[in-house]
Amino acid sequence: MIRRIQKTVILSLFLLWLVLTGLWAASVAGYVLHTAAMAVGLLFAVVMAVGVPEFISRPLSRVAETAEKIAEGDLSKTIPVYEIDEVGKLAQSFNQMAQRLRGTLSLVTEEKNRMQAILDSMADGVIASDGETRVILINPVMEEAFGLNEEGSIGKTVLEVVRDYELDRLFRQALDSGRPVKQELRFLTPEARLFRVHLTPLRGAQSGVVALFRDITERRRLEEMRTEFVANASHELRTPLTSIRGFLEALRDGALDEPETARHFLTIIEEETRRLSDLVDDLLKLATVEERRNLFLRQPIELPELIQRAVEMFEYRARQQGVRLDVALPPDLPPVTGDANLLSQVFINLLDNAVKFTEKGEITVQARKANGGVTVDVSDTGIGIAPEHLPRIFERFYRADKSRAADLGSTGLGLAIVKHIVEGHGGNLMVHSKPEKGSTFSVFLPGP
Ligand code: ADP
Repeated sequence: MIRRIQKTVILSLFLLWLVLTGLWAASVAGYVLHTAAMAVGLLFAVVMAVGVPEFISRPLSRVAETAEKIAEGDLSKTIPVYEIDEVGKLAQSFNQMAQRLRGTLSLVTEEKNRMQAILDSMADGVIASDGETRVILINPVMEEAFGLNEEGSIGKTVLEVVRDYELDRLFRQALDSGRPVKQELRFLTPEARLFRVHLTPLRGAQSGVVALFRDITERRRLEEMRTEFVANASHELRTPLTSIRGFLEALRDGALDEPETARHFLTIIEEETRRLSDLVDDLLKLATVEERRNLFLRQPIELPELIQRAVEMFEYRARQQGVRLDVALPPDLPPVTGDANLLSQVFINLLDNAVKFTEKGEITVQARKANGGVTVDVSDTGIGIAPEHLPRIFERFYRADKSRAADLGSTGLGLAIVKHIVEGHGGNLMVHSKPEKGSTFSVFLPGP
């Protein structure tokens, strides 16, 4: 358009110049007029040839420049509008378009940021795929759990990214059926973890699937532990109860008439009842310790006094068995913080075991300052524990030597209680033992 205007103007000026030149030819006497006409004509031609195209084309080039910027994604520019002519209207339309685009873009960005924030703060893993099971999104939980990175995964298929045929099958099932799919899947990440996977097909123009991964490994472990605990506890309770019932039936069926036998049966019933009561006591202690683990009292405790009292409870029994009981506590032992009743229980259980599993030997209790707290060692020269049992002795109901432990009236809960109490105080518990040589249980308790 600019070129056409330029050409028209130049042509008309040329004609004007021709007319003026003709006038000059017609009037020989009009030399002055000729010169003036020539000068005016030329001046006008130059002004029009240079000024008019410039006047019309500059706003148009601004519109073109801004349109180019918008096309490149820069929406911050606006075109100044001086006159509401055609070019001015064009500039206005461009400005409005840019403004609307700016608004839409900021809405889209806000929406995207909100979605990203939700995805980032989710506790579950998320993978979204297109209709070809190609990954279009992975959230940080999923990246961390499966050791993936979003950039390297986008565009690849779910099978290439997670390398699990069952998961790939579930994605395809959700896509083909258009219905949600739920399943529990075990993945090696690299350690085995159990996930509940929930896949929802995307509705709308674009097909795809959003899969949610909830890690239920810990929950399942706790459920299994609870079931196992209930089974074990029932079994432990049933054993003495069955025995009591058997002897009571025997008494009722005639043993009562034989005083000697009746006395023997009653002694057994008494023992079993004591075992039952010990078991219920320990179960209650364990339940209380587990439940109140985060609510333990935090008082300064002088350990020597507390340990001394626990030791006194076993002096008689030890002497009866011909076992020496030595205590070596340095006078400058710093205080520890905790619940005095529970910490007493720790040393009572450890000393009870030491006396129970030591015949004619020696038991020593030693304490020392260590890493801002105190370590107490309870050592014995008893039967010791075989290496294959050591990792399991802190489990509930675990007994290294079942028959001997049963004879000694043990519940298999003592060390589980000790471990819970010590760890609940922020400390730790270790054991060193050799069969037939003896055992040392070391309790570390942090200071205030
Ligand atoms: P309990 O002593 O009531 O059986 P514990 O949980 O205290 O239950 O101990 C679990 C098992 O660990 C015991 O049955 C025993 O086999 C072993 N044990 C614990 N302390 C000692 C020890 N001082 N010497 C040898 N074995 C021990």
